[in-house]
Amino acid sequence: MNCAAYPSRSSDHKRQSFPLGRVDGQPQVKIRQRRVRCMISLTLVSSILSFAAGMPRAAVAAPANVGDVAAAAMAYHDSGSYDRDFRSVIQEASEWVRLRAGHVSKPAIVLDIDETSLSNWPEIAANHFAYFREGPCDALPEGPCGVDTWEKTAQAKAFAGTLSLYAQARQHGVAVFFVTGRYENEREATALNLETAGYRDWAGLVLREDGSHTASAADYKTPARARIEQDGYRIIANIGDQPSDLAGGHAERGFLLPNPFYRVP
Ligand SMILES: [Mg+2]
Repeated sequence: MNCAAYPSRSSDHKRQSFPLGRVDGQPQVKIRQRRVRCMISLTLVSSILSFAAGMPRAAVAAPANVGDVAAAAMAYHDSGSYDRDFRSVIQEASEWVRLRAGHVSKPAIVLDIDETSLSNWPEIAANHFAYFREGPCDALPEGPCGVDTWEKTAQAKAFAGTLSLYAQARQHGVAVFFVTGRYENEREATALNLETAGYRDWAGLVLREDGSHTASAADYKTPARARIEQDGYRIIANIGDQPSDLAGGHAERGFLLPNPFYRVP
């Protein structure tokens, strides 16, 4: 705020000696009105700065606090909201599969595995949403729990809704392919886990090559779906918990399940 162009209290007295009517070519009353407004503005700015000086700075540019977000994610799961939202998406997918199954040749659906077909909640909760690829997982429900070890114990439970969708698809003659970000060295444990969880008679299980890395899961999941189509199948639904599960097309419809617990690029 620059009030130099307007008279200060001390200079105002000098200005009073100016001829009435005009000061520097402007009506004197105009000068006074501007000065009053300027003084009010300065007072306000001064008050705000004085008030702000005693307050903690607001981190307006910072993202949400990780601790708060973790608490919200835990509440989302424990309140039943996660299960409700999950079932809602599965219900929509089930209706679509039932509608489309009889109208295409060699119908198929693609299911992701983790947080789509199998729940890793015991590992997720034990690790408080952190990710430990290596290490043991022998203190559940306490952590840390190595993800690789957890997955190879093959004890993940099925999501009831996804299992129902799976059964419905099979009843309608729909082939089911699992396309997952798990690695080939987990094939035996993953197949065993799917079977024991209730997923039987599936058409294929696509895993990543050991040691392979891509910028996005879509970089290998999209070609995997393209290969399924090349085998003559029509993928009527693709269901996963990550946008990267669904990116790239090669499915009539994609269904995104909720997962605020982790992100797979
Ligand atoms: Mg997943």
